[in-house]
Amino acid sequence: MKISAVDIFVLSTPLDTPFAFSQGWVQRRSATLVRVTTDDGLTGWGEAFAQGLEPPEIAAAVIEHALKPLLIGRNPLDISVLWQSMYTQSRDYGRKGSVISAISAVDTALWDISGHFYQQPVYQLLGGAHRTSVKPYATGFYRLEGQNESARLSEEAIQHRDAGFSAMKIKLGFGVADDIAVMEAINKALDDPAIELMVDSNHAYGRSEALKLGRALEQYNLRWYEEPVVPEDIEGYAELRRKLDVPIAGGENEHTAYGFNQLFRQDALDIAQPDIGSCGGITAARDIIALAQSNGVAVNPHVWGSAIAQAASLQLIAALPVPNHSLYAQQPILEYDRSSHPFRQQLITAPWAMQGGMIHIPDGPGLGIEVRMDTVAQYQVNA
Ligand code: MG
Repeated sequence: MKISAVDIFVLSTPLDTPFAFSQGWVQRRSATLVRVTTDDGLTGWGEAFAQGLEPPEIAAAVIEHALKPLLIGRNPLDISVLWQSMYTQSRDYGRKGSVISAISAVDTALWDISGHFYQQPVYQLLGGAHRTSVKPYATGFYRLEGQNESARLSEEAIQHRDAGFSAMKIKLGFGVADDIAVMEAINKALDDPAIELMVDSNHAYGRSEALKLGRALEQYNLRWYEEPVVPEDIEGYAELRRKLDVPIAGGENEHTAYGFNQLFRQDALDIAQPDIGSCGGITAARDIIALAQSNGVAVNPHVWGSAIAQAASLQLIAALPVPNHSLYAQQPILEYDRSSHPFRQQLITAPWAMQGGMIHIPDGPGLGIEVRMDTVAQYQVNA
């Protein structure tokens, strides 16, 4: 079996209502999708993570010009061999960012093909499922105005709760005083210690402001405090871990086992959050999990992409061991972005549905999804 085609689909559409996270206004939702086809007629899909401000064309260009020539004619089941080929051949200009996101998309597609070839879900190829369903957490609380939105955001918390979510992540990073007002309002509105809360400032602050915010957050029994400082400031992460009684999370802007190794060596994280669409795919995520496990760090994947990225995340979560075994060990949770995304759910024939507060992990071959080409065509901008 040989790879006969690598097709790239850049999807992008403007949002009716732009929203802000701490780094800027998100005007469009985009995705870089890849479909790998074999001479046997098998296909696999993958997705490169397109951050809110990231043009999807960058990863698309990497796939087209740098990776595709390495893939055509090769055996798609040689996943690790092809990963090494893509990584080493792009090392001198890659290692981070959109180049690794491009590799991530291809790698995911190869795992999908393998699943179809062996007629097994990806989690089975990874060694089996530790769980068959996962609790989703609502990611939301983006800003429509900017500051002074605590009243609207506390209403949003109630909406997530009423929709069945028992965990939610609040976007902060709009000024420490504004952040504290938002947290007070949400906590008061929910008034339920059984609802798990997390916060994410998207590295809005330097160490002193991040520490000030962290100290104000300690009272909320947060599951984690995400990206408190910029990803380059690994020592800042470590300092906050030492000083705060809140688990520190990060990693959506880190890449491969090489990158995560630096975080682990400097005791920067309690919880590592590789995104399959940018960490180097399922192959790299598997290495990162082993490395995290051996350094006493938990892993909870990050995902903000479309249904293909979510499907990959679900497969990885199925195969993810708990960091510390016990009868009542804390289980990983699935990031479930609730912000506006015109094509995320329409991209697959059987969109996820929450049942009893949980999402069932697909057990069909590969990623367990079927991509709707009519939706791809509707939003494709590189045809
Ligand atoms: Mg984040």
